[in-house]
Amino acid sequence: KSKARRARKETSTTTLDDVAGIESAKRDISEIIDFLKTPEKYRRLGAVMPKGVLLVGPPGTGKTLLARAIAGEAEVPFFSISASEFIEMFVGVGAARVRDMFQNARKEAPALIFIDELDAIGRSRGAGLGGGHDEREQTLNQILTEMDGFEAHENVLVLAATNRPDVLDSALLRPGRFDRKITLDRPHKDAREAILKVHVRKVPLAGDVNLAQLAARTTGFSGADLKNLVNEAALTAARENRDEVTAHCFEVARDRIILGEERDSQLTP
Ligand code: ATP
Repeated sequence: KSKARRARKETSTTTLDDVAGIESAKRDISEIIDFLKTPEKYRRLGAVMPKGVLLVGPPGTGKTLLARAIAGEAEVPFFSISASEFIEMFVGVGAARVRDMFQNARKEAPALIFIDELDAIGRSRGAGLGGGHDEREQTLNQILTEMDGFEAHENVLVLAATNRPDVLDSALLRPGRFDRKITLDRPHKDAREAILKVHVRKVPLAGDVNLAQLAARTTGFSGADLKNLVNEAALTAARENRDEVTAHCFEVARDRIILGEERDSQLTP
């Protein structure tokens, strides 16, 4: 019954050019990339680099994208796993998967490990049901054991994403674990324009499309929403047999997305 799968390993081709509107986080990120690329430089200076970095932000703000871009820029293998998959697994499976993943990453170091939806297993222990010996907790303990068990000079960096940093077990945030944080907020107007620019790169735009104006009219949209907006607009153009995507197509797409969200929020109050 278990949908368990091993950690994916990929060679990321994503670069920082694919990530827009995160100016405030760029400095932290470039330091992390530099560390993965030239670990000797840091070691020589006696600098201890972080083992774990938490990517915090609402859904669709580019946490996964950013993790891939870091791996792509540093040209290191990218191992990823989603913590939500460990729920309802057979006891011990999650922990074994975590152990395997760390082992493989260390073999290929420098490497980057990405744990998505960390809060799915990283919630405060003891507070929930289970009383301490459930799958969730074993998996979490295994992550902590692995992070404590390797030295910073092994050059494996663990990134973990969450949109609920408030519920995380404090053990995760201790020094030597996820002791650094990069926050991704919902994009403000200029950031939305920059994100739109990334996503229209391969889209033939009509002369009447004004991205700055579009950015101004998409308050509350995440990066994922903006990507979706561009795609919906292109689909609208195709449906209308146009060879360019016009301002009208973006209007139709925007209305669709906003109405869709209203419908969804009525279904799930
Ligand atoms: P979730 O919490 O739902 O997993 P996430 O924060 O990991 O979301 P991503 O999966 O990285 O978000 O974002 C989905 C897609 O939205 C990305 O693949 C990318 O195409 C687009 N996107 C999100 N943020 C940005 C951004 N800052 N710049 C460019 N594209 C973005």
